[in-house]
Amino acid sequence: MRAYERLLKYAAIRTPSDEKSTSSPSSECQFDLARILEQEMKELNLTDVSLDEHCYVYGKLPATEGLEDKPAIGFIAHMDTVSDFCDHEIRPLITENYDGKDLPLGDSGLVLSPENFEHLKELKGRTLITTDGTTVLGADDKAGIAEILTLAEQLIEQKIPHGPICIAFTPDEEIGTGTAHFDLEKFGADYAYTLDGDTEGEIQYESFNACKAEFDIKGFNVHPGSGKDTMINASLVAMEINSLLPGMETPRGTEEYEGFYHLTSMSGECAKAHLSYIIRDHSTEFFEARKATLRLIEKNMNAKWGEGTVTLTIKEQYKNMARVIADCIHLIDNAKTACENAGVTPVMPPIRGGTDGCQLSFKGLPCPNLGTGGHAYHGPYEHITVEGMDLSVAIAIELVKLYAK
Ligand SMILES: [Zn+2]
Repeated sequence: MRAYERLLKYAAIRTPSDEKSTSSPSSECQFDLARILEQEMKELNLTDVSLDEHCYVYGKLPATEGLEDKPAIGFIAHMDTVSDFCDHEIRPLITENYDGKDLPLGDSGLVLSPENFEHLKELKGRTLITTDGTTVLGADDKAGIAEILTLAEQLIEQKIPHGPICIAFTPDEEIGTGTAHFDLEKFGADYAYTLDGDTEGEIQYESFNACKAEFDIKGFNVHPGSGKDTMINASLVAMEINSLLPGMETPRGTEEYEGFYHLTSMSGECAKAHLSYIIRDHSTEFFEARKATLRLIEKNMNAKWGEGTVTLTIKEQYKNMARVIADCIHLIDNAKTACENAGVTPVMPPIRGGTDGCQLSFKGLPCPNLGTGGHAYHGPYEHITVEGMDLSVAIAIELVKLYAK
């Protein structure tokens, strides 16, 4: 079976995770896909196949005889999708021999255009899989799942010699808790890759350092007619706080290795106000400096408006995995060689985000991220090509071969 055929099957099963949920998995629907994957892994004769109560699916492809002592390589993908654009049935559309030009997405009125997505020109001649413009496609990350199972199938069918292969499919990646119940011991890999990137040939191991920062602002509310030198309007203090941050250091104003402060939500009245930010930076030093800036603002605002007016809470989210990967850089070197062996030029952009691999890397399983061939995730413009998926499988096969040497 080709990888895209698996993707089409999985895409039809809706699996949005739910940020508001406190259970794990965050949504029961993820089990609908997990059960199918468990079954499929058993049909492929993988060993140690299991689906646990938190909706993690594990399985192994034992090493070819004589290669048991080679490093155990893991492949991981996530089963959930974002919850946006995911409230009804997903109907993927297939466009054969795509002409590289504007493509209407079903009857939705949306048009997938190279004006917004420049890489589309390079996909000319390929078979494009898109949405009908009303949902996500869910190639993020069902393409990764499809490619991992196709990898296993091809290793078996083509009798390609390989070391131990470990496979895991996880829930709740999109809400940041995809590794909360990940069982490293059960998984059993020495090193792993998430297949959760964009275009085929992408190799990512430099992620952001990330935290959330919340400002709670207490005002002093009196009748506006008698507010002279008494009133502290919390909303105005909130605006003042934001004005102290560098205006260009936002997601809109930054790229590549440039970090930012991102105001994700605000609310306010005279008596109280709230600002929520996420802070991102690849550089640990700059990341710490950003947090220091926020603390300095808190301190100065309290000096100006009175102790207790502003309370800053910083919550760490994830760290740049580059420093873990630095100690096992063969993961990157081999991924590059695998791309070249598969005829794909490797691309290594820094991740402007995090992956489950970040968390796993810091838990002791070094885990860079590989592309799956997909583009424009998290919205109705999401798309992928059949050829890109085949190439991603080919890269993974080459990678397995390198670790079996
Ligand atoms: Zn993803």
